[in-house]
Amino acid sequence: MSASEDAYDAALDMAGAHARAWLGSLPDRPVPPRTDADGLAPVFGGPLPDGPADPAEVIDLLARSAEPGLMAMPSGRFYGWVIGGTLPAALGADWLVSAWDQNAAMRYPTPAVAALEEAAGAWIVDLLGLPAGADVGFVTGATVANFTGLAAARRHVLARVGWNLDADGLFGAPRIRVLVGEERHETLDLALRHLGLGAPTAVAADEQGRIRLDALAEALEAGGDGPAIVCLQAGNVHSGAFDPIGEAARIAHRHGAWVHVDGAFGLWAAASPGLRHLVPGLAGADSWATDAHKTLNVPYDCGVVVVADPGALRAAMGVHASYLIEPAGPGGPADPFEKVPELSRRARGVPVWAALRSLGRSGVAGLVDGLVRNARAMAEGIAAIDGAEVLNDVVFTQVCAAFGDDERTAAVTRALLEDGSAWMSGSRWRGRAVLRVSVSNWSTDDADIEASLAALRRAAQRASRPHR
Ligand SMILES: *Cc1c(COP(=O)(O)O)cnc(C)c1O
Repeated sequence: MSASEDAYDAALDMAGAHARAWLGSLPDRPVPPRTDADGLAPVFGGPLPDGPADPAEVIDLLARSAEPGLMAMPSGRFYGWVIGGTLPAALGADWLVSAWDQNAAMRYPTPAVAALEEAAGAWIVDLLGLPAGADVGFVTGATVANFTGLAAARRHVLARVGWNLDADGLFGAPRIRVLVGEERHETLDLALRHLGLGAPTAVAADEQGRIRLDALAEALEAGGDGPAIVCLQAGNVHSGAFDPIGEAARIAHRHGAWVHVDGAFGLWAAASPGLRHLVPGLAGADSWATDAHKTLNVPYDCGVVVVADPGALRAAMGVHASYLIEPAGPGGPADPFEKVPELSRRARGVPVWAALRSLGRSGVAGLVDGLVRNARAMAEGIAAIDGAEVLNDVVFTQVCAAFGDDERTAAVTRALLEDGSAWMSGSRWRGRAVLRVSVSNWSTDDADIEASLAALRRAAQRASRPHR
């Protein structure tokens, strides 16, 4: 077999046909998978065949066998965790990224994807109102975007007190105090662990989960003037609430702290004229992390890190090996590998470029506004269900509801998942069992909201029976 066009034709045609069938099934199919990973183990596993198989037949087998084990995450009736669907242009671009197979580490050998990612990065900085000239890196998700921003922070705050992290590592270094809101996302703690910074100091939050400014000021004052990093949040996974970023950043900067914002899904509020008021002073931070695979609706996986001071990011992430073409140097455009933890990488920014190019400025705002409108409709519908209570102020895309005591809320959640018309995850928030609804899919429409509320009403009715 040669790598001619023909070698790919049959496999791509097969993949395309199965992809279309999958996408076509989304409007009506039940959301949950019909089997579990253990059930699929014998289908995909067993001994590796001794010899080769026809590529198109492999793709056919793969798609047919996988279908019962696929969750309809791109369905307009999927509201679990914070997920997001896939815009058509982003999916098309993602296919091309695979076909092009560019190693997107450097500008010189792969100019097209480098230029596309630079354009996408500049658009994001512009849309979110972040400082012009900030560096943008495309990574796997917000966990790694947080890690990357915080790596720049770590090196920078240590350099300010005369500690050479590159030469001496963290052993014997001045302790960096990391302050986070008590309702930060758990992956922030993970990023801090990866960075050897230990457990952060949790600062008290208010009833919506927003960091309290008085508590932040107090914690900073108590800590003296050693190196410090303050992590703020744009979008709480339970309430959708936003930390008072501008005010908190001003307080943190008075103490010489680096300010990082985890805005995995919420940062996109800044792209909407109607929602921008949720993130006043956003540009005053030093680094930002977000996902493109959540609110922006590109396929998995794509996270974005933005750092205001390009030198800080490049110093933390750059590598200099003799077989690489040397980067342009300070002042010039960075090679992609200077802005992310990886060297070899997929051109993750290309689907972002396509999503933004297809939406335009008004389309991005419309996308975010639409999610929030749907979340509000969902909240209203839930509040109208007998015994239900919406626990958060629905300012963005998240709704947290209870259906009486913890036991009944859990029963309603179970009944909803059994019904299969819609998918929402259970959680605990502020000491209570909750049903979490995250409206993150561009394709969710009025019919989806109505069908999902109907499923929830059925679930609430069924969950009531044992108590009567
Ligand atoms: C989803 C999420 C993360 C983690 O992002 P991944 O893309 O899953 O790595 C971090 N913070 C917040 C607020 C999130 O919603």
